[in-house]
Amino acid sequence: MRKALGRFASGVTIVTTAESQDEASVHGMTANAFTSVSLDPPLVLVSISTRAKMDAKIKETGRYGVSVLSCEQEPLSLHFAGAVNEPDLVRFTWRKGVPLLDGALVHLSCRVVDSHPAGDHTLHIGQVEELWYDDGRPLLFYTGSFRALELQTDNEVCGF
Ligand code: FAD
Repeated sequence: MRKALGRFASGVTIVTTAESQDEASVHGMTANAFTSVSLDPPLVLVSISTRAKMDAKIKETGRYGVSVLSCEQEPLSLHFAGAVNEPDLVRFTWRKGVPLLDGALVHLSCRVVDSHPAGDHTLHIGQVEELWYDDGRPLLFYTGSFRALELQTDNEVCGF
């Protein structure tokens, strides 16, 4: 499964949630199992392992944020996957009471409208209550490695 599905290139996000507006209550984790679901109403989903602390936290708070990372933010993706410890890189900004990562390309503030158990993961469907985006180069994940797009012209996208 990992080898086959790792050939589906994705972006990389940090999913965040908080019990209150207090930064001490914020929890974040790296996730690439993120997808857009519906435009009207605006729905997205994240697939979170039942073993991740994040799963129980989203069930408690009923809200989550999605920050789509730029290619300069690879260290943050490693930090929020527990692979390195770089807390000094972490800066939050708040939208609709949801914490998001400074410097990301996209911020989505979501309210959970449905959560479906699916094997060893939970699919948390969120209604987007606020969104913001900026231009930049996204961080990509492909065959277990981080990559960046090389933009050759305005319309043509080339390799890694
Ligand atoms: P922890 O492992 O305890 O926390 C994760 C890390 O975030 C820790 O290092 C912690 O110190 C840090 N952290 C948390 N909150 C804060 C804060 N407020 N300030 C500073 N640091 C903080 N798993 C999935 O379930 N679904 C996915 O789609 C998915 N995609 C992934 C994609 C990639 C590219 C990678 C590398 C991993 C992915 N994972 C995914 C795995 C997931 O990121 C890890 O298993 C993660 O450790 C689970 O986090 P946790 O909620 O259990 O919390």
